[in-house]
Amino acid sequence: MAGAAVRQRTCAVCGAEFAPGARTEMEVLHDGEVRYVAVHPGHSTYARARENTVADRLRRITRPAA
Ligand SMILES: [Zn+2]
Repeated sequence: MAGAAVRQRTCAVCGAEFAPGARTEMEVLHDGEVRYVAVHPGHSTYARARENTVADRLRRITRPAA
């Protein structure tokens, strides 16, 4: 295992408490060392949406022209 999961009660992004039974996502945070933080689904400590957009664009660019 590359590190212990952090036992968190609050979201690392917005700081709000997790609702009991709510789904959380683990996110890798590189902060000198690699840590794992819990976040609400959709809350991200980095711009995941932007990464997806870039990946989409790359896919479109590299798609062979028919
Ligand atoms: Zn949150």
